[in-house]
Amino acid sequence: MITVKHLSKVFNNAGRELAVLRDVNCEISKGEVISIIGPSGTGKSTFLRCLNRLEEPSGGQIEIDGVDILDRNADVNRLRRKMGMVFQNFNLFEHLTILDNITLCPQTLLGERREAAEARAMELLQLVGLREKAGSLPGELSGGQKQRAAIARCLAMNPEIILFDEPTSALDPTMVSEVLAVIRHLAGQGMTMAIVSHEMEFVRSVSTRVFFMYDGVIYEEGTPEQIFEHPQRPATVAFINRIRTLEFTLADRSFDLYGMFGRIETFCNKYGLGDKVFLRLQHVVEETLTGIIPFSGPVHLTVDYSEKTYKLVLTFTQEGQTESILDKLPEDHLPVRLVRGFCESLTEPSPGQLIVTL
Ligand code: ADP
Ligand code: MG
Repeated sequence: MITVKHLSKVFNNAGRELAVLRDVNCEISKGEVISIIGPSGTGKSTFLRCLNRLEEPSGGQIEIDGVDILDRNADVNRLRRKMGMVFQNFNLFEHLTILDNITLCPQTLLGERREAAEARAMELLQLVGLREKAGSLPGELSGGQKQRAAIARCLAMNPEIILFDEPTSALDPTMVSEVLAVIRHLAGQGMTMAIVSHEMEFVRSVSTRVFFMYDGVIYEEGTPEQIFEHPQRPATVAFINRIRTLEFTLADRSFDLYGMFGRIETFCNKYGLGDKVFLRLQHVVEETLTGIIPFSGPVHLTVDYSEKTYKLVLTFTQEGQTESILDKLPEDHLPVRLVRGFCESLTEPSPGQLIVTL
């Protein structure tokens, strides 16, 4: 259905050239659900935007059903209609009701009659569970509902493929699953889709193939099982094993401990880590920051969660530290003993860098 050959995209940033896509090659067949994963800034959005020519590629070929859409004579509007796109931030028209948001393009671009467009819109609203919101304005809906409305709007154009660019990353964690459920339903109905997502459990269960994008290319591709269980290349292995990261920079001791716990709790909920893990994490963070770290300068904390090993690793880095922190503390230092009681290991591989594994 879609064949991409040697696709490249160079951005010109104030005279500096940035080659975001260097040489992307792939084929997507009808009915496939392709997930695109990879670190941020590796060109995942650019790739999707090139596919429907929201972004003009710098080189290469994109064929859809045998037609080269980069050809100067290609009917871009017709091709674009074959592809729906769902964005992170919904892009609904705020001054139009949900029903009007959905019926606008079918009427103006496909020439559908109002009654027919509305009847179809109501069917689609039923599908995404929002029939009773037809008369509401987007502002009256929750984020999850807005995104479901945006999916209904996209379906109203009868696309042959839908491109999703991080459809759940702007949502509160509590609303992610309702949107993923709708996408999963579409996959079950055989809809062809390409989805950029960081929801790894979802990616693993819904995709027919996974593309790992890195360094301007599809660095590795395979079935979810191949990519998640047996990644072959080093950057894929690193990404899969250390995929969830939460970062904090604390200028001094007066940092907002409770704000930090809030973010850690959200993180734990999001990845299903449970209350017990959250409590242990909270104790470890509090004891380490109040009783062990000297705060002789800014401190960085990263919380990494591997969905593969199910291990949590906390890295505390004391900027400017040249001597070991742990060596200078007494043997029976209480905070160190408490942290060791809560974790699997506490080490200091280099001065000022404490690593706690839970
Ligand atoms: P991803 O979606 O994987 O996070 P993007 O495709 O959004 O990555 O961006 C890849 C790189 O291209 C980034 O470094 C980004 O800053 C740059 N970029 C994206 N869009 C533009 C643009 N319109 N102009 C200049 N640079 C851009
Ligand atoms: Mg992006």
